[in-house]
Amino acid sequence: MRLPVREYKSIQKMRPEGKFACIPATSIERQTARYRGVCYIEGPCFGKRLSLTFDDGPSGFTEILLDLLGELGIKATFFWLGRNIEEFGALAGRALAEGHTFGNHSFDHADFTKISINEVLCEQIRRTQLIYRETLGIEPTVVRPPFGKITDELVETLKGMGMKIVFWSVDAGDLIAGNKSADRIANRVMNNIHEEAIVLIHDGVYDSRDTIKAVRSIITNCRDRGYQFVTVHDLIGAKESLLQG
Ligand code: ZN
Repeated sequence: MRLPVREYKSIQKMRPEGKFACIPATSIERQTARYRGVCYIEGPCFGKRLSLTFDDGPSGFTEILLDLLGELGIKATFFWLGRNIEEFGALAGRALAEGHTFGNHSFDHADFTKISINEVLCEQIRRTQLIYRETLGIEPTVVRPPFGKITDELVETLKGMGMKIVFWSVDAGDLIAGNKSADRIANRVMNNIHEEAIVLIHDGVYDSRDTIKAVRSIITNCRDRGYQFVTVHDLIGAKESLLQG
């Protein structure tokens, strides 16, 4: 069933016509329309700002990424896997101290629509929240479901726990076969960039040198176009930890 056109228009508010190809359509857009203020693919306003988000870390690549973001003065948001925080937790404190923010991307990248809701909550969400709490003293307020897949029932449950679901509006495409060169990744982002975009990039999944080069180029080009970089939490107006008052 298609949503009323009005709903679609407001979600894709600033996206240039014909630039929708990078958005994983259907369920993500439907859920963003249905759960206003809970599910996001982009920021809610019309500011010339955007967020870089890095999924699937931390990894052996995160340190180089932090060096780059520090050099360029960028605050980003990391959607880390609980499993990888256990392995690369030494980097976590540095990322927090440097002003980056964090979201829950599950424990081990499970597809939330393929396992029971109890399993998602216990083995994926809460388990990762606990690891964040033990490692950084925070419990993220934002969740990015692996593959962008989540059931409505789970959205409602997470909403009840005070959490928000953060999808993305621009996919760097760094996992797409044939797209893994720095130029292709950067071009794909720059061709789709828009006000209050949430940009999805991966941390350490493939060759990081291309990603690093691409991120540098994306930041430089976006700044030339007048964009400011903010964390996802700033973009959507979410607090950084459930443990905050
Ligand atoms: Zn992922």
